[in-house]
Amino acid sequence: MQVRFPDVDWFCDNCNTYLNNQRGFDDRKYIWKCKKCGYKNSISAANIRHENPVMHNVFGFLLGYIRSYLVYAIAVLIISEIIRKQEIVLFFGHRLFLILALSYPVVIMISLFFERAIAKYGIHKPLGNWIISTIPCYFVGDCFRPLREVLTFPFALLNLLRLKIKGISFTKYFRKKCFYAATYLILLLLIALLFWKSGACLVFS
Ligand SMILES: [Zn+2]
Repeated sequence: MQVRFPDVDWFCDNCNTYLNNQRGFDDRKYIWKCKKCGYKNSISAANIRHENPVMHNVFGFLLGYIRSYLVYAIAVLIISEIIRKQEIVLFFGHRLFLILALSYPVVIMISLFFERAIAKYGIHKPLGNWIISTIPCYFVGDCFRPLREVLTFPFALLNLLRLKIKGISFTKYFRKKCFYAATYLILLLLIALLFWKSGACLVFS
């Protein structure tokens, strides 16, 4: 039997059980449902952690968080400017806008470097193709991640209750969901504050 990832050990993202020796495990499957807890694990190159998974998770999260904040803050400044002037204008004189707009590509570059050189994601793809396909993924992800993490939280709660009734523990997965929902809720509140501030100056000016 040919395996997709020779010499890679797979562990459940929820209960940390070793998956390779579960009955019927086949790494050619893209999803493997853990026999112990029932969590559906993604079996893909993106989920292989080469060295330090905690560091990768922390840096990956921070970079994604900063990128989302920048995208939302830029959008909020554009929207408040449109409301104020009733037209789309260029913001070359707006210092905060300039700082944010220039920071986004810089954080994108740091993220690309981190993923490729340190976390070794996508190393099986040619560098140019990988960069061209990854940047739009970043942007779409940065736009939707905060809303998705906050809005899907009630469903995670329902799922937890449903599984609790069945006697299956999903605590690790749920803790992660709570962390993401709380941090992205803070991000949305910070954005709302920025919107209120930029809106407040136009109301009082
Ligand atoms: Zn499991």
